[in-house]
Amino acid sequence: MKWEENVRRVTPYTPGEQPQKNGVIKLNTNENPYPPAPGVARAAAAMDVEKLRLYPAFPEKTELAKELAAYYHIGADQIFIGVGSDDVLAMAFMTFFQSDRPVFFPDITYSFYDVWADVYKIPYERKPLDGDFQIRTEDYRQKNGGVIFPNPNAPTGILMPLDRVEEIVSANRDVVVIVDEAYIDFGGTSALPLIEKYDNLLVVQTFSKSRSMAGMRIGYAMGQPKLISCLNDVKYAVNSYTMNMTALELGVEAVRDTVYFEECCNKIKETRAQAERELTRLGFVFPKSYANFIFASHKSVPAREIFERLKENDIYVRWWDKKRIDNYLRITIGTKEQMEALYRALSQICGKT
Ligand code: PMP
Repeated sequence: MKWEENVRRVTPYTPGEQPQKNGVIKLNTNENPYPPAPGVARAAAAMDVEKLRLYPAFPEKTELAKELAAYYHIGADQIFIGVGSDDVLAMAFMTFFQSDRPVFFPDITYSFYDVWADVYKIPYERKPLDGDFQIRTEDYRQKNGGVIFPNPNAPTGILMPLDRVEEIVSANRDVVVIVDEAYIDFGGTSALPLIEKYDNLLVVQTFSKSRSMAGMRIGYAMGQPKLISCLNDVKYAVNSYTMNMTALELGVEAVRDTVYFEECCNKIKETRAQAERELTRLGFVFPKSYANFIFASHKSVPAREIFERLKENDIYVRWWDKKRIDNYLRITIGTKEQMEALYRALSQICGKT
């Protein structure tokens, strides 16, 4: 058929399963186990539905942009807001990665990067992590068309110290370097202060993890005003109204409540420390995680078997049938109770009591 020759063919990204049945312990997509800040529920209840007949405001002109700017001590013109960081990253790929040279990212990383590169026809090269899953900064010194990596990296949870992030940014002044900080609030040090010094640095964050709002879809990028205006130009060339009014309004409450935000992050860090002890006791090994998940491999039981048996017990974790990582499970940190249920199931599966 003729039309088939003209189709843009891509292999899509495969997100973690979203089981719709009740009672499942869902530790497979790095969602926050706690509800959004209480102000979000109040604002949702008070929302004036009549005004949904209007188009939403431009995100950069909203209270949400102002609130984020105040929180991060930057200008509202230094923030781009999108429909989750996936949307922000997709826009950033389209905007900044226009070179004939390949974009660099790690071989083990967020598996959406190669999908965006493919869909936008951007050449790319995967730079192998070392044997301990660390990014080798020297690999990012060759000429390239841009650089992107998550910090902490996904799915490993490994944090790269800020001086090494800066090493990559400063070695690549002629291209844009994107640091995807989806998990930065769980113990990492953000590269945000570096945006003053480097006009080629874009820092991307999200409301989906530390702010418990994955379902609302809010992500944002921060950088110098010129980078942000380039992003806005491309975004307004694709779709003027990406952000819905509800997200723009409710997001404000999640940023405002800094006490609740810190409490939730601390609870997750505490549960993570406990998970490190329990998983070690159960025979797992894992790199130190600075994210809301642990990337663990069992000393004797294959990851796939554990993954399948947990699922039979209605406990969902993430497993990839991929070279180098197929004996690992990525386990999201849930509530203490959810994690207790996980340890009980793992004791049965891995033969420890
Ligand atoms: N970056 C990384 C590294 C992620 O793991 C995720 C979550 N899948 C995202 C970005 C996208 O998250 P969201 O679109 O929900 O902000």
